[in-house]
Amino acid sequence: MYDFTIVGVGPAGARFARRAAEEGYDVLALEKGTVGEPLACSGHVSTDIWEFVPDSARERLFQNRIYGANFYTGGPDANSHRFYKNEEVSNVIDRVELDRTLADCARRAGADVREEHTVTAVDEQSDHVEVTASVAGEDGTETFEAKMVAGCDGPVSRVRQTVDLPEPDEKLHGVLAFTDEVDHSDHVDVHLTVPGFFAWRIPRGKAGVEYGLAAPPGDDVTERFEQLTSAYGVETDRFCSGAIPIGPPDRVTTDRIFLLGDAAGQTKPFTGGGILYGMTAADCAARHIQPHRPDSLEIYEDAWRETLSTEIRLGHLIRRAYSLPEPIQRVGLAALAGEIGVHMDKPSSFFSKAHLKKLIPRSAVPHKLVK
Ligand SMILES: Cc1cc2nc3c(=O)[nH]c(=O)nc-3n(C[C@H](O)[C@H](O)[C@H](O)COP(=O)(O)OP(=O)(O)OC[C@H]3O[C@@H](n4cnc5c(N)ncnc54)[C@H](O)[C@@H]3O)c2cc1C
Repeated sequence: MYDFTIVGVGPAGARFARRAAEEGYDVLALEKGTVGEPLACSGHVSTDIWEFVPDSARERLFQNRIYGANFYTGGPDANSHRFYKNEEVSNVIDRVELDRTLADCARRAGADVREEHTVTAVDEQSDHVEVTASVAGEDGTETFEAKMVAGCDGPVSRVRQTVDLPEPDEKLHGVLAFTDEVDHSDHVDVHLTVPGFFAWRIPRGKAGVEYGLAAPPGDDVTERFEQLTSAYGVETDRFCSGAIPIGPPDRVTTDRIFLLGDAAGQTKPFTGGGILYGMTAADCAARHIQPHRPDSLEIYEDAWRETLSTEIRLGHLIRRAYSLPEPIQRVGLAALAGEIGVHMDKPSSFFSKAHLKKLIPRSAVPHKLVK
């Protein structure tokens, strides 16, 4: 009987596997394919990422440093508004290599990480959970017993569905692809041309340039993507696509099962980024969950919300600006453009009194906001 069986070895699963193994628990982590593949992510993250990987991995993962963003209400030919910081806001990293690195950290900490194991059933009993997996290239299935199961199986989580936990509020459809242009520039381009979200261009240094967008379901993302790349006059390759959950469900735990990462909707509503939030929640889980104490899941449920829910709520607020009428967006961007003092994962840094005071001339802000 394992203490924890983890379903899915993306950033959230690998991080929890590592931290739980470091706590001395017996950990089995099952990944349906090869860790890190297929890619469906920009790997655009705040510099906090370096707290989660060994220093020795930095050179392998790092692709480019970003100091800000050019915002457009139209395509690349329209006027842009530059938001910047005098220090690095974020880094662009190799996401496949990130997942491999995190899985290696979990293995080194003592977790049993097995690839090519697709979990097909999760059966929660009163005193343990049975997890059944099919193994690539083998007939039949294997069943594992654990005191608890972590569902870290991404936005379309089978664990979440199997145990009838509620779905995230929304799932966007994200797409991206690359060109081989070498581009060391230090700003991303953001086009507020997609209903309720945006399209982007990310310079990745020697690794090329990425073009992408995310949109609500039903929107024709492929057609929008073609419009974006033809406006830039580029041909892309290595097309990737994935779901982005926005808005965590009200509950992410049962008696012996808990969700982490995208499975739990632990993402930033205004960017869709979930790497850092998922790993932060994994650390909360490792800190609070004890496999022999089902009541500790309640503590995890409270703790991760206490850590992330204000940021997620304020992130929703920022996202609302993407749906404002274009003339208002233009006026707002023109008024706010310039140096900003925000942390990419913390919308609260944008809404802080000190930052609002700096950002907006005092006379333009309702008195009670800046007092
Ligand atoms: C187009 C796009 C761009 C993005 N860009 C960024 C970005 O720049 N920055 C950022 O922070 N986030 C970004 N994200 C979001 C980010 O990719 C996710 O938030 C992050 O991957 C979530 O990590 P996770 O470990 O929860 O899930 P995942 O990374 O999805 O990992 C889940 C793992 O579970 C495995 N799995 C699934 N089902 C099973 C099963 N039945 N059995 C065994 N294993 C299973 C999968 O193979 C996968 O390896 C982007 C997403 C998309 C779609």
